[in-house]
This record gives sequence, structure tokens and C-alpha cells, in this order.
Amino acid sequence: MGKIISIPASDRPCPIQDLQLFTVVDYPGHVACTLFTAGCNLRCPYCHNADLIAPDDLPRIDETHLLEFLKERKGLLTGVCITGGEPTLHELAPLLELIKHLGYNIKLDTNGTRPKRWIPWVQEGLIDYVAMDVKVPLEKYGHMGATETDKEGVAQSAAFLLSNPDFSYEFRATIHPNWFSRDDVKRIGQWLAGAKRLALQPFTPSEKVLAPDLCRGLGYSKKSLLEFKNILQNTIYEVSVRG
Ligand code: SF4
Repeated sequence: MGKIISIPASDRPCPIQDLQLFTVVDYPGHVACTLFTAGCNLRCPYCHNADLIAPDDLPRIDETHLLEFLKERKGLLTGVCITGGEPTLHELAPLLELIKHLGYNIKLDTNGTRPKRWIPWVQEGLIDYVAMDVKVPLEKYGHMGATETDKEGVAQSAAFLLSNPDFSYEFRATIHPNWFSRDDVKRIGQWLAGAKRLALQPFTPSEKVLAPDLCRGLGYSKKSLLEFKNILQNTIYEVSVRG
């Protein structure tokens, strides 16, 4: 492996717990790797990252090795995705600066509950793309373990994206019939009216989700998802169905 000498890594603990070496589907227009942070303030019953949302006591990746990896892959990779858990629980600015210094584009996945942390990253040019989860209509966020403060944060995060159409972003909604009704589709469409992009992601059944007993049962059919897409397209510019 080559060495990365010109980028100083500090002694601070690295917030990254895991690394996916390669992805062509997670960052539009980029071949990327994905960095995972641990810990989450929400408890979505269908969460597939149950291992990562546990208390922040998992072993961490050595930051110097991580930067060495990124320096070596420059050119093969053009993007870095930061996901979780919930990345904004961590002060990532120092690491983001180092990654930007290497010339990467950075995408942030967030549940939107911590706008005071991530919006400054955007304003400082440390983040190039945001994918924000929209779990349910705001008033139902309690089903995902959100506090009133979390809900206010989600509202502020969504408002920021809606008022910055020149910035690259998408909203994403994981659709499970137990938490996302047909009526909710209309309410999401009203809430996010004018948004550039929303991706609907059907829930993928798994016994490894946070609350498998609550998630059992049939999901929406492809036909229903396409119906939802049609409704949402009345107020949102680009709506896609993934999976
Ligand atoms: S789905 Fe995302 S926001 Fe929800 S608990 Fe899992 S990591 Fe947290």
C-alpha cells in the first residue's frame, strides 16, 4: 500500500466503524465507497442496520488507514458516501475536510433530525449531495422513536433542502404498509411539494431488522407503488421506485 504523508490525521477517535469498498448504486453519477458510523437516535422498526444503531462501542477504523485507502483509490473511486446509523450524531467536519482535500465528492445519508450539525457542512462545501430519509408524515415520527426535538429537526432539514434547489439532494422513503398508509402518501406529497427528487423504497423483508415481529406480512405490490408514484408526481418533480 502507498503512504499518505501529506494529509495529517489527528489523534482524535475516528467516527467510522465500517467501510464498504465499492458501490455503483448509492451515489448517483459516482463510483463510490461507503463509510458507516455507529449509533442512531431513532428506532425505525424496519431498520436493517440494527447492529450499527446500538450504543457507540463498536471498534473503529483507523483514520490513517482509511485516508491511505482513499488516496490509493483516487481515480477509481470518485465519491464517498457517509451513512449510518445516523452520521450527524458525530462531529464529522474534520474528517470531511480531509476527504475533500483528497478531491472526493461526498454524499451524506441522514434521517434529518440534526440540521444544526449537517447544514453547516453543506454551507462550508464539505458535502456535495444529501439523501434525507422521510420516514412518515411529520406527525407520525413518534412511531420511529423520534422526540419532539427530532421532529423539529426533520422539519428544518426538509425546509432547508426545499429552499435550496441548486443543491443536489434527494428524499427517500422506505414504504411499509404498517407505517405508511395511502393517506400518508398524499400528506408526504403536500409536505414535500416542490421537491426535486423522492425515491420510494419498498421494505425488504428480513429477520435481521430491528423489530422483525412488527414487520412481518405482505408489503405493497408494485402496482400500489406505481399508484403512489403517480400521486406524488403531482407535487414532486422526479419520483422513482427503487428495488
Ligand atoms: S433506519 Fe436509519 S434512522 Fe431508522 S433506526 Fe435505522 S439507522 Fe436510524
